[in-house]
Amino acid sequence: MITVLRIGHRPERDKRITTHVALVARAFGAQHILVDTRDPDLEKNFISTCERWGGQVSIRTGVKWKDEVRNFKGRIVHLTMYGETVDKAMDIVKSDEDIMIVVGAEKVPREVYDMATINVSVGNQPHSEVAALAIFLYRLADCTMPDFDDGQMKILPNPRGKTVVENE
Ligand code: SAM
Repeated sequence: MITVLRIGHRPERDKRITTHVALVARAFGAQHILVDTRDPDLEKNFISTCERWGGQVSIRTGVKWKDEVRNFKGRIVHLTMYGETVDKAMDIVKSDEDIMIVVGAEKVPREVYDMATINVSVGNQPHSEVAALAIFLYRLADCTMPDFDDGQMKILPNPRGKTVVENE
């Protein structure tokens, strides 16, 4: 089971980027999404995406991040440019059954670094929680992405147009 915890979400500023964190988490194989600030719009939009495109992925906003991290029984991976390289981290986390991946927004509190089982960098340059999360999940799944067959629609790959079919 993979849980993604997004901390530092500010609904008025981060709406788009936190939505992207949730969409990437779902598309690249996470099962649970937690967001530290309550945001009913984010929940509603994400649930609607899951209904249309499939995937049994849960979302909960307004969680107390410290409690979630403290009570999690598994590996806590904090994505940060200061962490261990993703190459080395993969050797350590690859066989874990339960992983919580923590991504920040602006400044991440020091406690997150200390509470994490491992701090992991996707390169040592500052970039984006969306990019870091996508690459980490993609590597974790050996460069694969899940198929979702339980949505209302699905896309058939097409090099020159859009082919969308309704699921029966
Ligand atoms: N200097 C900030 C900090 O306190 O970490 C960077 C904030 S960055 C805009 C937002 C988030 O993107 C970070 O909290 C981290 O989760 C992720 N991130 C950015 N660059 C990263 C990198 N090179 N490797 C892993 N995660 C990264």
